[in-house]
Amino acid sequence: MYQRLDLEVWDGDQPIPREELLRRVPGKQGIICLLTEKIDSQVLDAAGSSLKVVSTISVGTDHIDLEAAKARGIKVGYTPGVLTDAVAELTLGLTLATARCFFRSHCEIRSGGWEKSTWSPLKMYGKLLQGSTVGIVGLGRIGFALLKRLKAFQVKDILFTARSPKPHGEAEGGKEVRFEELLQKSDFVICTCALTPETQGMFDKTAFHLMKSSVVFINISRGGLVNQDDLVEALKGGEIWGAGLDVMTPEPLPHDHPLLQLANCTVIPHIGSATEKTRLDMARLAAENLIAGIKGTSMPAQLL
Ligand code: NAP
Repeated sequence: MYQRLDLEVWDGDQPIPREELLRRVPGKQGIICLLTEKIDSQVLDAAGSSLKVVSTISVGTDHIDLEAAKARGIKVGYTPGVLTDAVAELTLGLTLATARCFFRSHCEIRSGGWEKSTWSPLKMYGKLLQGSTVGIVGLGRIGFALLKRLKAFQVKDILFTARSPKPHGEAEGGKEVRFEELLQKSDFVICTCALTPETQGMFDKTAFHLMKSSVVFINISRGGLVNQDDLVEALKGGEIWGAGLDVMTPEPLPHDHPLLQLANCTVIPHIGSATEKTRLDMARLAAENLIAGIKGTSMPAQLL
């Protein structure tokens, strides 16, 4: 039996302004959103009792007030799984790009620096994955996909932290350790952990202090996991060797932000899942979640 759904689409280049969102949601049965839309009790209340489902085109759900949705009996759909491989590949790429100074090297050629200094043994030297200890903070879908890929690089040890037991991580050769031990022992610290009230700002001064001064720190999860002022200080003061970030605070990052002035920091604009196939799969899954949530049938990827 077909049911007609009327769609109201925001198709501006920029995220929908908050006032516009609040003006448009009253009476809607479903909302499809991106991580740029904060879906809190104000939005849910503005939508009113007609709202059945919020469907986000993302696997991270920190932009949605889940407690508020739950309290109002509103279902929440998200897009796990379909982006795992794309983000794991990007994470590996960002790790190599940071460890081997890809962007700094490229800039050096463009600015004529290479012509001036030709070749030297110490020029642009970086870090080797082979033989290293890699720590993955948060062994979820993306963390585990990364672990499997890292084995091909012949790393020495893969450590990970988790909230719940991860026997598949151990079975693939990883070792679960406490957060502090991971920070102390790892040559690469890679954050793939969900942003929650408990993990907010977990990479702070204390965490950077525990890391090796030779460490490469990578974050592909959410900017909120990192105390960014502490990260800037750690990079400036040589407390850590380098960082690669796909996520930061705020997004978009202002072009004159201190992170962009640092030669030992590689920043890319939140492109973890940005492949054509992945984005289409995410959009399709979010649409299926929305339709099922409105019709009251089983949602393919329901969080709440
Ligand atoms: P996931 O399977 O839910 O993995 C998240 C992991 O974080 C879970 O394994 C969870 O542990 C762990 N975790 C939560 N709190 C923790 C804590 N206090 N200590 C240690 N581990 C903790 O999600 P995913 O699909 O792998 O995605 C992970 C995150 O990547 C998302 O939340 C999102 O923010 C980010 N992401 C970024 C991009 C990008 O474009 N850069 C794209 C997609 C996703 P348990 O399993 O024990 O609950």
